[in-house]
Amino acid sequence: MALIVKKFGGSSVATTEKIMSVAKRILDEKKGNDKIVMVVSAMGDTTDELISLAKGINGEPYKFPREMDMLLTTGEQISIALLSMAFQTLGHPAVSLTGPMVGLQTDSAYTKGRIVDISPERVHEELNKGNIVVVAGFQGSNHLGDPVTLGRGGSDTSAVALAGALGADSCEIYTDVEGVYSADPRIVPSARKIKEITYSEMLEMARLGAGVMQPRSVEMGEIFKIPIHVRSTFTKTSGTIIRGDYSMESIEEKSFVIRGVAHDENVTKIAVLGISDTPGVAHKIFDALAKANVDVDMIVQSMRNIEKNITDMVFTVANDDLTKAKEVMETVARDLNASNVLIEENVTKISIVGAGMLGNPGIAARMFGALAKAGVNIEIISTSEISLSCLIKGGHVKEAVNAVHDEFFPKN
Ligand code: ADP
Ligand code: ASP
Ligand code: MG
Repeated sequence: MALIVKKFGGSSVATTEKIMSVAKRILDEKKGNDKIVMVVSAMGDTTDELISLAKGINGEPYKFPREMDMLLTTGEQISIALLSMAFQTLGHPAVSLTGPMVGLQTDSAYTKGRIVDISPERVHEELNKGNIVVVAGFQGSNHLGDPVTLGRGGSDTSAVALAGALGADSCEIYTDVEGVYSADPRIVPSARKIKEITYSEMLEMARLGAGVMQPRSVEMGEIFKIPIHVRSTFTKTSGTIIRGDYSMESIEEKSFVIRGVAHDENVTKIAVLGISDTPGVAHKIFDALAKANVDVDMIVQSMRNIEKNITDMVFTVANDDLTKAKEVMETVARDLNASNVLIEENVTKISIVGAGMLGNPGIAARMFGALAKAGVNIEIISTSEISLSCLIKGGHVKEAVNAVHDEFFPKN
């Protein structure tokens, strides 16, 4: 008898017909006494629609993060009630539970909450009664009992964390593609499905924009040592296993130095021009941003005018943090007597990821060469142990991602 956590994303439960077919599939595939915990997202684009609704009240609704969470958690509540009714209609007992009801406790960082504990006794009780337990993803509650969401895509994290807390035998993430690919298959038609990928490579891909998994969910998988199977809701083909290391079967895949290409369009470039090139300036800028909870990603300081001791600082933030970053930079730029602050929203970060890059010096040149051949100019470059990222102007993203992908995964 296995305990299995199965997560279904928004597109998998977008309509009542799809909810019924998910319930049918689960019952068809359920073996004997298997205990099933379902984690579901809001139907289709419900979360985006709720955000638009809030924008009807205030153009910057994230100024009210607590109220945003009160609003956004309703999306998942709709889908769990409907899916539980679907199971019962098909003759199997089921019960829907919200994040707080499954004991998922978070900190108080509304809209970007982090899980601090899970005490899932209620889930065990309901499973022991023979129920399929249908849990609302993306949500928990803080010490006050307020609903708190886990950031966009957070149902993945709910599922993996719950699988860990329940000691589940496996965790399956069902979505609208057949697994994790060597690039977003919607942008790169020749992308290859990856059979196995390590937690660290998947985490890097996810952080660099591969939206198929929320980065935090991959961290959770590694902490709890739970293999995660990413697969399709609409076909039965096996997908991608995210795990600690490769099995012998994947030795061929391992021969690629690059595991995948990720891209992220949720990026804004900020340039602070004409600031003094003296100790403490970088600290002032990035300390102020950190205090406002703005994550800074790529950073470049240029040597502009050595005689006048003046420099420019260029960095990137997520588009979602732009309002906060703008407010902070207005004050800081005044303090530092900067000559100007330029903001460019239409930029994209393209990255290659793979542990095989370590000690492989030709990789960077190949990526730059591929972008050059596609006529794409690189604005900022950054590296980590297992990735290399280039910031480019928006507008040619598809060509750029395909060019880099073709370089490392030549079409047969
Ligand atoms: P869900 O609603 O099921 O959580 P998401 O939209 O969050 O689905 O994630 C699935 C999407 O992730 C795919 O439709 C695909 O466009 C995108 N994606 C981005 N990068 C990758 C990748 N490397 N492999 C697979 N899918 C990717
Ligand atoms: N519904 C939430 C979102 O759209 C959570 C999720 O789908 O994982 O971000
Ligand atoms: Mg998702």
